[in-house]
Amino acid sequence: MNPYQTFISNLEKAGEKLGKKPEDFEVLKTPERIIEVNFEFNGKIIRGYRVQHNSKLGPYKGGLRYHPDLNLNEAKTLAALMTIKNAIVDVPFGGAKGGLAIDPQKYSKEELKKITELFTQKIADFIGPNKDIPAPDVNTNSEIMGWIVQEYSKIVGKKMPAVVTGKDLQDGGSEGREEATGFSGADILDKTLATLNKKPEETTVAIQGFGNVGAHLARELDKRGYKVVAIAEANGGISHEDGIDIDKTFKATIKREILKNTCYCKGEKCHLKRCKIVGADNVLEQNVDVVAPAAINNQITMHNMKRIKAKIILELANNGVSAEAEEYLQKQGVMVIPDVLANAGGVTVSYFEWEQNLKKQKWTRAKVLEMLSEKMNQGWKEVFKISKDKKVSLREACYILALKKLLK
Ligand code: GLU
Repeated sequence: MNPYQTFISNLEKAGEKLGKKPEDFEVLKTPERIIEVNFEFNGKIIRGYRVQHNSKLGPYKGGLRYHPDLNLNEAKTLAALMTIKNAIVDVPFGGAKGGLAIDPQKYSKEELKKITELFTQKIADFIGPNKDIPAPDVNTNSEIMGWIVQEYSKIVGKKMPAVVTGKDLQDGGSEGREEATGFSGADILDKTLATLNKKPEETTVAIQGFGNVGAHLARELDKRGYKVVAIAEANGGISHEDGIDIDKTFKATIKREILKNTCYCKGEKCHLKRCKIVGADNVLEQNVDVVAPAAINNQITMHNMKRIKAKIILELANNGVSAEAEEYLQKQGVMVIPDVLANAGGVTVSYFEWEQNLKKQKWTRAKVLEMLSEKMNQGWKEVFKISKDKKVSLREACYILALKKLLK
């Protein structure tokens, strides 16, 4: 099944559970608008997308990713997931997603800036603070968001910080936005473990990805007492049975040290430096309690599902687990905490950023994180209640909750 078909099948299952007729939610099966753009850069054609899936709950909202594998089907799927996610955490937005099918590593910063400006020109008519508000996603960041604001403001002749979220603080970004996704992933895991009577100190975690999401998840889990024993990125990673010193590792990677060349571990045996090298592929197969794919889609699939040993999967990457793998793992008693709940903290703080921009306010980090925890708690409670009452998986519960709100 391709991922968009999986989305439709999840929707249909939820509709059935709610006793809805297929025509009641037909509109959610097709994106409201698909924008595909092509432009020339240095003699080559670059392709970009913005898929605006649904606007029932408000202006379209969702990230822009720069990745060579991005295609229309993926952009459609990710846009649809944003519709579901935004409904779950009750932010007044519809769903969208897009980006460029490029490998950003192949370009200099100046080139990326130019490419981002050209892309902004192409999509300028379709975005805006009350129309569609992009944000960072895979391989995009606050600096790129700043370039979009500049270019968009130039086009409309007025400074418009609220056209995107996930900006730098000095460009109108919000306190807490950068760590929001990792922070809320940790919040959701805490609450879930509490229902299983398991304590953070007794819980080992392996994380795939040490970028904006994975690194902040690791830091937050470490702070809360979890033992993060393995982390890996595309170019390598490390594991240590006594746990990794996340702060030191985080500082080292800011200086662009490669994970496999660092071994900051914790505990008595640390001086022995028994770090093992792990790869992005086998980090998810470690013998731990929780694994968190926090990098890119399609990382737990039928190809590696039988080697997954963890009993909890915290799906921080959108579409990190394929439908086939989820079905198999669930039968083995593995709990999958789905992307649309686990990583919803990012868009939630995006909402706070947008609101601060519109009201010309600046909220403190403490206030933002408190409001974030409240929203996540609410979403989590509702999803878990549905899952328990209706005896369905957490993903099915997420779709049921979202559909209820979308069909109101
Ligand atoms: N890219 C993030 C996501 O997938 C954030 C989207 C946003 O903040 O609009 O949820």
